[in-house]
Formats: sequence, C-alpha cells, structure tokens
Amino acid sequence: MTFGEAIKQKRESLGMTQQDLAEKLFVSRQTVCRWENGSRCPDLIMAKKISMVLGISMDDLVPTEAVQAQETVKESPVDLSCVKVMLLGIMLVLVATFLTAADDGFVMDVAGFCFVAGIITFLVGLFIPMQKGDPVIDDTLPQRKCPQCGKEHDFDYPKCPYCNHNYYG
Ligand SMILES: [Zn+2]
Repeated sequence: MTFGEAIKQKRESLGMTQQDLAEKLFVSRQTVCRWENGSRCPDLIMAKKISMVLGISMDDLVPTEAVQAQETVKESPVDLSCVKVMLLGIMLVLVATFLTAADDGFVMDVAGFCFVAGIITFLVGLFIPMQKGDPVIDDTLPQRKCPQCGKEHDFDYPKCPYCNHNYYG
C-alpha cells in the first residue's frame, strides 16, 4: 500500500470526503487529491497532522512497504537526444571546415551550407532541454452530473454545490 492509498483508505473508512479532510487540515481539496493519487507528498509536519486527524499512527500512514516500493522506483534515464542533435551540428561544422580546404566554387557553396546547417542544428540541440517543462500533473478530478440541476461538479461533494441536492439524503 502506498502513502496515498493509506490516506484514502482511512479517510473513506471514517466516511470523510476529500473536502472534509482538506478543511480539517486547512489545505485545498486538490492538495488532498494529489496526496492520494501520489503526485505530491506532504511535508513531515503535515504528515503528522494527517495522522492525528485520521487517528492513525505515522507507521500506519507510511507503511514499510510504501518505503520499499519507493526504493525500487528507478530513476528515469537521462534524455540524450539534445546531445545527439548538438553532436550532429558540430559534425556538420567540422565537415564544412574540411570542405573549405578545397579550391572549388561548388564545394565552397556546400561547405557554406554545411556550416550554416551545422550551427542551426547545434542551436536546436541546445534548445531541446528548454522545451521540456515539468511533467504535467493531471489536475482533472472525477466529475459528477447533478441529477437535479444538471450541472457538473467534483465527484466527492456529498451535496451539489449549485442546488444543494443531497446525494446521501
Ligand atoms: Zn444540482
């Protein structure tokens, strides 16, 4: 069981919604959602607060197998595509430099082309890492359509926030 699953399981066994737990901890419901789906981890103080609100020990909150599961997660391999593109650019410039030794108009044109293409390729390689942002975190939460007013809202609301339709009433 992961840390997120432990929170979710205990929260649900207490009949609490993500919103209920969020309000008790003075965080947003999205934060609770992120803990439960594993995209975020609370800090140590917040983890202690969670364990107190849920009435469980820190050991139950962070089961040993959750720690072991984390240890087995391999680091993602380093992306070398930018280095490859930059090396290609350097090679093109080297070829261009080599070709300029020839005393021929056409070869000189090719050399010029290689030089420019090499510089552009190198710059493209240089900018590839800058195009990569942080991994996109899926913030979309399950939605439910209210049968009374027809509006969509977050799934775990016990009542429709628009018309107060009570799902458990
Ligand atoms: Zn409604």
